[in-house]
Amino acid sequence: MEYQIRNLDLAPAGRLKIDWVKKNCPLLRSLEEEFTRTQPFQGIRVALSVHLEAKTAYLCKVFAAGGADIYITGSNPLSTQDDVAAALVADGLKVFAWYGATPEEYDAHIRKVLEPGPQIIIDDGGDLVHMMHTEFPQLINGVIGGCEETTTGILRLQAMAAAKHLAFPMVLVNNADCKHLFDNRYGTGQSVWNGINRTTNLIVAGKTVVVAGYGWCGKGVAMRAKGLGAQVIVTEIDPIKAIEAVMDGFGVLPMNEAAKVGDFFITVTGCNKVITKEAFAVMKDGAILCNAGHFDVEIDMAYLNAHAVDKKLQRQNITGYTLDGKKWIYVLAEGRLVNLAAGDGHPAEIMDMSFAIQALSAKYLVEHQHDLTEKLIAVPKEVDMDVAHRKLDFLGISIDSLSEEQSRYYYGA
Ligand code: NAD
Ligand code: SAH
Repeated sequence: MEYQIRNLDLAPAGRLKIDWVKKNCPLLRSLEEEFTRTQPFQGIRVALSVHLEAKTAYLCKVFAAGGADIYITGSNPLSTQDDVAAALVADGLKVFAWYGATPEEYDAHIRKVLEPGPQIIIDDGGDLVHMMHTEFPQLINGVIGGCEETTTGILRLQAMAAAKHLAFPMVLVNNADCKHLFDNRYGTGQSVWNGINRTTNLIVAGKTVVVAGYGWCGKGVAMRAKGLGAQVIVTEIDPIKAIEAVMDGFGVLPMNEAAKVGDFFITVTGCNKVITKEAFAVMKDGAILCNAGHFDVEIDMAYLNAHAVDKKLQRQNITGYTLDGKKWIYVLAEGRLVNLAAGDGHPAEIMDMSFAIQALSAKYLVEHQHDLTEKLIAVPKEVDMDVAHRKLDFLGISIDSLSEEQSRYYYGA
């Protein structure tokens, strides 16, 4: 069977979403046109696991236009959109994913995209790479390499490489400037609030927002909270990031202190147990908690589920918990990434840049497959610059360039 999706009849609705994305992704459009002519992925098997919504669907179509034989699954059971999956299948692509997959189904879908023996892997968080090593060691020799989309996935790859366990090269897409500077900061900043606002339909102005983690994503979430009129408190473990938050005008507190005053809590650290029972115990009645970090381990959901004396679905994607039968706290999207599980994720123009980096990095791997010596590969500077120049062109913005004299002065050569 060439696909496993929920319902092929949903394809028209998915097509509309993808067409809208295409209108708003000029970089991917230019790559689709270029790849259609040059066929950089002719006959190359590509396995892809990324949040399966319309922007990702368009990336898949760009790979397919470049000649790839592409096998697609989601990267989060709650972020796959069934109509988008259907639209891809209707266009002849091989998709294995549905919304709300159980852990067993989720793993089975990943197996489906790995079984054909991928040559290129597009991963978002490391699930494909991990399963490739544990369950398909006999297919590893056929892998040219892969690309990793997110911060936490890169941490996992670095641990594998340090243990000499990583068997093929991986491009660290997240670390490209055109990725984390825009996707993690402005993409997460906007889409987290979109997820919270459409799910809760509550006012943010005048409330206290606690942002755990002041990395690239946390900076974006805090900045947009301020713009919505909230008082913002940051929690951190890194003293330098904490000073940065203070200089940016935010309060800084330990989580168990911030817990007493927060109305909204957003974790975006990549760490586990950031909000635990000590914090739950002192929170205000009605506090709203959500996560935007990679795994659903930042809010201690296991504790809440084990110790709540009552638990009620309040509205789609809002679950109420009470630990004492009096005070309620509300968790959005079961503690999974709120912007993806309760929204459409980052805006199209942001994913346009991130996915242009993905597509060009995959092309780089194919072109350089015989001379890749390192296992962890930085996105080549020329790819980052290419994407930045294309973006400026589409924005209609010109910038200066160095004269020869300036170049000699500036670079000393
Ligand atoms: P980052 O490394 O830039 O920032 C993480 C920050 O969290 C660091 O400043 C670190 O000191 C801090 N931190 C770690 N443990 C903490 C703790 N226990 N309490 C408070 N602060 C703590 O990473 P990033 O790029 O901002 O990514 C953060 C997470 O979000 C990762 O898991 C990443 O994969 C994920 N991510 C999500 C989205 C999304 O769409 N929701 C987008 C990009 C990245
Ligand atoms: N694999 C995990 C978490 C990934 S972290 C999971 O799926 O739950 C979030 C990553 O999702 C970011 O690096 C970001 O680039 C990507 N992302 C955000 N919005 C997206 C969207 N609309 N479509 C596809 N990927 C998106």
